[in-house]
Amino acid sequence: MYIGIDIGGTTIKGVLTNREGEILSFKKIPIGKTPPEIEHCLIELIRVLAAAKGLDPSAVKGIGVGSAGSIDRDRGMVLTSPNIPALQKFPLIKTIRHRTGVPAFLENDATVAVIGEWWKGAGRKYSNWIMLTLGTGIGGGVVIDRRIYTGQSGSAMEVGHTSIDYRGRKCPCGSTGCLELYASATGLMRYARRVIRKHPDSPLIARMKKEKLDPRIIEEEALLGDPLSLHIYAQVSTWLGIGIANLVNIFNPEAIVFGGGLSRAHRLIFPVVKKTVHERVMEGLDHNIRYLIIRDHDRAPALGAARVAMDALKK
Ligand SMILES: [Zn+2]
Repeated sequence: MYIGIDIGGTTIKGVLTNREGEILSFKKIPIGKTPPEIEHCLIELIRVLAAAKGLDPSAVKGIGVGSAGSIDRDRGMVLTSPNIPALQKFPLIKTIRHRTGVPAFLENDATVAVIGEWWKGAGRKYSNWIMLTLGTGIGGGVVIDRRIYTGQSGSAMEVGHTSIDYRGRKCPCGSTGCLELYASATGLMRYARRVIRKHPDSPLIARMKKEKLDPRIIEEEALLGDPLSLHIYAQVSTWLGIGIANLVNIFNPEAIVFGGGLSRAHRLIFPVVKKTVHERVMEGLDHNIRYLIIRDHDRAPALGAARVAMDALKK
C-alpha cells in the first residue's frame, strides 16, 4: 500500500492505493495556515487514510507528496510558495518520515497531476501533451515522447509564472504580468470584483448578498446567460489562451489536459481558449489539438504522488 498526498492552495487531498493504482481510500481536508497546523493536517490525513483499511500508518510502504510552489526534491521541502507562505522552508518530508516512520518523497504538484493522468487518466493515449492546473495559481506539466519532463530540480513548467504582460501586475514571484495573476481562479475573482461594481443590476450582486462569491457561482450565472458573468469568463479565457498559445508554439502538443477547480467551467473556457490559440500560434500548430479535462480532479494528483513514492522505492 502507498499513500499519495496533494497539497493545494486551500486543501490537502490524499489517497491510499495499491501497486495497481486502485484507490482504496480518499480524504480531503482544508490546509492549515501555520507550520504546526500543516503538520497536524498531514499526519491526521495519513492516519485517516490508513485507518480506512484498518491499517496503522507505519504499515504503508511509501508516501508521495505533491506540493504547490517551487520545490527542492532532495531536501524534501518547498522553497517558495506564494499561495501558502507557511509551507516555505517547512521540512515537509522530514516531518512525515519522522512522525510515521515511512519513507516519503516530494514532487511538484503539477508534476504529480501529470503522473496521475499519465498512469490512469486521459494522458495514457498521447505521446506529447501538456497539463495545466487552474486553481489558486496555475501549474503545468509536460510529457514529451511519453516521458514526463521535470527539469533540473523538478520545477519545470512553472506556466503560471510566465508573463503575458511586461507592464502588468506585480507578482509575488518577483516578475510582472504572470499568467496566474489573470487566468487562475484567484485571477478570475480579482477581475470579477473589479467589474461587478460597475454592474449593480447583475444577478451576481444579488447572489453576493446571500453567499460568498466564487468562480462556481459566476459559472452558474454565465450558463444561465448573464452577460457580465459570460464576459468575466471570456476575458479570463482570453488571457489563458495567450499563455497556452505560447506553450503550443513551444511544444506542438497532441493534447492539453486541464485540471484544477477552474477547469470545471470548461464549457465556458474551451471555446475562447481555442479561438485565442488559433489566432496566435504559428499556422498549423493548433491542428488536431485535443482539449481535455482531468478525469478525476480530486484524486488523480494524489494518485500520481503515490506513484512517485512507488517508483522512488523501486530504484
Ligand atoms: Zn509570478
